[in-house]
Formats: sequence, structure tokens, C-alpha cells
Amino acid sequence: MTISRTRLVMGNWKMHGNLADNAKLLAGLCAGAGSIAAGTQLAVCVPFPYLAQASEALKGSAVAWGAQDVSAQAQGAFTGEVSGAMLKDFACRYALVGHSERRSLHGESDQLVAAKAKAALASGLTPVVCVGESLAERDANQVMAVIQRQLAPVLALGAEAVNKIVVAYEPVWAIGTGRTATPEQAQEVHAAIRAALQAIGAGQVQILYGGSVKAANAASLFAMPDIDGALVGGASLVAEDFLAIAA
Ligand code: PEP
Repeated sequence: MTISRTRLVMGNWKMHGNLADNAKLLAGLCAGAGSIAAGTQLAVCVPFPYLAQASEALKGSAVAWGAQDVSAQAQGAFTGEVSGAMLKDFACRYALVGHSERRSLHGESDQLVAAKAKAALASGLTPVVCVGESLAERDANQVMAVIQRQLAPVLALGAEAVNKIVVAYEPVWAIGTGRTATPEQAQEVHAAIRAALQAIGAGQVQILYGGSVKAANAASLFAMPDIDGALVGGASLVAEDFLAIAA
């Protein structure tokens, strides 16, 4: 039996934007979202200060929104942290966890990423767990070992939890570099991730590809059987470019 998974095209604005530019981008997304094929969910992960703006602008539209990180803690003396409950106050649906920039620039461990995923779930958010190897790791034939190491503490949360997450495979060498994994390279890793999820009874979890996705390469990536959508950085900052990927 073939079960079709919904496609998810998610933007990651990273640390870009301001009130005026965001207003134009969000209006462009609202205007264009209606023409996106049914069965494709659009979402944007915006910087924390702009969650109120995004929720106001996107409310009632076909575009969901979320944050780029979430604390592993529920509340308390954690200066600078933002909890899942706070994100829910702004009606977030998603929270990225373990983006490679968090792992490399902020030293986030695989265990911390899993704890963040658990905290997001406890608040009713869908964590988008990002995994991916560096170029040195790919060159050393360590891709699958790295992905399995990164996923292990997340899988240990158990099938009930894992069935509520999204996984994003983002090879670090493809993020923001203009160098995309070929559809075959991406599919190989997605199939391995699918098998690991399947082994614990979570084989229908959405697995997104991320790394220099643009309109020109989206269709060939999305044609792969285990690629369920994309996590998009640079090309999510222009409404037409982002919508063209989803289209
Ligand atoms: C990302 O930020 O997750 C990303 C994939 O960025 P880009 O699309 O710019 O490579």
C-alpha cells in the first residue's frame, strides 16, 4: 500500500528581515499561497521578535509559521532562551531544532537537540529536527554514521513522539553555498533516514531536504520517493522565489 505524505515547503529566514521588509514578504506569501497545489503545506520560520508580526499577517492564510529554535527548558532562569509555551502563545506550529548553524556556532549536541525536540512536542509544537554531514565527513564516507549518531537520541524518544516530528536532511556543504546535493545523493540519505524511522514504527514521518534549494532544482528533488519537501534558506526571503519552489 502506498501512503502519500503531504509535501511541506518551509522557509528559514535565519537572522534576516525587518518590520517593513517582512510586511512585503508576508503579504506576497499570502497573495500567492492560494495558487500552490493542494497537498503542499507552506510555512516560514521567522526570528523570534517577528513572530507577532508573522502570526498577525498569516492568520487565516494557507501559510503556517514557526520559530528557528526552542529551549529544552519549560521555564525559569534561562536568560535568552525562548520556551515552547511562549512560541505557542504566538500560535507557532513548528520549531526548527538542531539546525547546523546552531550545532556548529552554538555547540548544540545531539542530546540537546533531542531534548529540544522533546520540549517542543510537550508544548504541542512540531519540531523539525535538522541533521546533516559536513563536507569532510562526506569525503571520509561517514555520511550514514553521522546521520545515525545525530538521529539516535531523537529516535530514543520513541515511536509516539517521533511520529509527530519532521526531519530535515541538510548536508552542511550545501547550506548557503549554492551547491545542492544531486537528487540521487539526497534520496540515498533520505532512504536511509526513512529506514531508521521505519525500524521504530515511524516510517511516514516527513523528511525534508535542505541546502540551496531553488525553483530550478526543486522539481527534480521533489520527484524522489523519500523527499517530502524542502527547508529553504536564501530563496525563502523573496516571496516569488519561495512560492516558485512550492509550485
Ligand atoms: C537553511 O538555512 O536551512 C538552508 C537550507 O539554507 P539555503 O537554502 O540558503 O542553503
